[in-house]
Amino acid sequence: MEDMMVHEQWMRAAMEEAKKAEAIGEVPIGAVVVRDGQIIGRGHNLRETTLDSTAHAEMIAIREASSALGAWRLLDCTLYVTLEPCPMCAGALVQSRLPRVVYGTADPKAGCAGTLMNLLQEPRFNHRVDIIEGVLQEECAAMLTDFFRRLRKKKS
Ligand SMILES: [Zn+2]
Repeated sequence: MEDMMVHEQWMRAAMEEAKKAEAIGEVPIGAVVVRDGQIIGRGHNLRETTLDSTAHAEMIAIREASSALGAWRLLDCTLYVTLEPCPMCAGALVQSRLPRVVYGTADPKAGCAGTLMNLLQEPRFNHRVDIIEGVLQEECAAMLTDFFRRLRKKKS
């Protein structure tokens, strides 16, 4: 169970990133890339702020981690993300040769780590990513449902 405590610790760091997104009115999704017990990349959703459909938490964290490592291959790294990766991010994770993804809550609308499809473990690709799902699931899901509830209240 020690492993799960470590996963929860890094998922809390991803949740801190998600809160940064929420603080500026973005949908609260956050990610961190961890290597050797250290965070080498962080990202939170910035789609509205940057008017960029590719500014997802994972993409930003991957870029930062690659720049920290000086390599596009994220060997020996784990990405923690509060929400299951979308097709774009799952594609980027495969491209970066990242060995493992840990996510908080499933995404029934875009999840490509097993919910709608599983791009991370597609046997025809040249790389497959291990998946650990459901770490701090309830807290990660609550952040999103609370955000959308407040948004609806504001509109009505
Ligand atoms: Zn994405």
